[in-house]
Amino acid sequence: MNFNNITVAGSGVLGSQIAYQIAFKGFNVTVYDINDEALERAKDRILNLKSRYQADLGATEAEVNAAFDRMMFNSDLSAAAANADLVIEAIPEVVQIKTDFYKQLGQCAPANTVFATNSSTLLPSQFAEATGRPEKFLALHFANEIWKNNTAEIMKHPGTDMAVFEDVIAFAKAIGMVALPIHKEQPGYILNSLLVPLLEAAQQLLVKEVADVETIDKTWMVATGAPMGPFAILDVVGINTAYNIGLAKAKATGNDIFEKIAKILKEDYIDQGKLGAATGEGFYKY
Ligand code: NAD
Repeated sequence: MNFNNITVAGSGVLGSQIAYQIAFKGFNVTVYDINDEALERAKDRILNLKSRYQADLGATEAEVNAAFDRMMFNSDLSAAAANADLVIEAIPEVVQIKTDFYKQLGQCAPANTVFATNSSTLLPSQFAEATGRPEKFLALHFANEIWKNNTAEIMKHPGTDMAVFEDVIAFAKAIGMVALPIHKEQPGYILNSLLVPLLEAAQQLLVKEVADVETIDKTWMVATGAPMGPFAILDVVGINTAYNIGLAKAKATGNDIFEKIAKILKEDYIDQGKLGAATGEGFYKY
């Protein structure tokens, strides 16, 4: 099945980027959020994306304007979903909010509409039943700054219809993504399943005073040809996020290495205002 009319539900950081990317690639997009104020904020966010597409992709003014003209905005879910072939959900990462949303959406969307969640940490099987159409539901996970970081991880749950899986893979390609099919549910998809252990191992080497930041990064880069080492990646992710993950890991495992990691991130970086690349300094200066 070809998806022609797309609805993006939730127009925050990721939802507004997903919606604009889809419109930029020539599809009609309806943006849904809980009220008109949220949609006004989304319009501002999307208008700011125009200059990013021009600067980063060399898009012309006519192209970025035409993309915006293909977008509609609606705070009534029934109306927003009425013509949708595909609804992409990018609402808050809160189980109850997503469950309530899927129950409501399942009742008002046409029977053939496919639903996809952009959730980063929750699994599609958690919501499959609430959708009322588990066979037409799966995860379609994008990265922040979608126009540059163009990965789309497409993940089935055990009840997803294979034809729906293939259709969403084809759609991801049609909107300029590198489609990455994932056949079994995996927390963290592929990227974070690889990245999180690498970043954790690097922090453990530092905390155990095995080597300094530069040497750890240099080892990874020279040995594998990677453009960045784990600490440079942590600077992009943000030290606050790394700290929160460290704290959660300390609680979940009771392993004091994670407590030591969190303490160093807090005292040597966060308390010194070194929050990562976005603030000009983290493990490195920018
Ligand atoms: P956000 O907080 O920026 O945006 C959430 C939006 O959802 C807001 O506009 C809010 O008004 C709206 N909303 C709240 N309740 C709603 C409801 N019931 N129905 C419809 N809209 C509702 O969040 P975000 O960072 O864009 O994340 C959204 C989803 O995308 C999450 O599942 C997150 O895990 C995932 N994600 C985020 C990133 C990222 O880097 N931020 C990357 C990949 C995936």
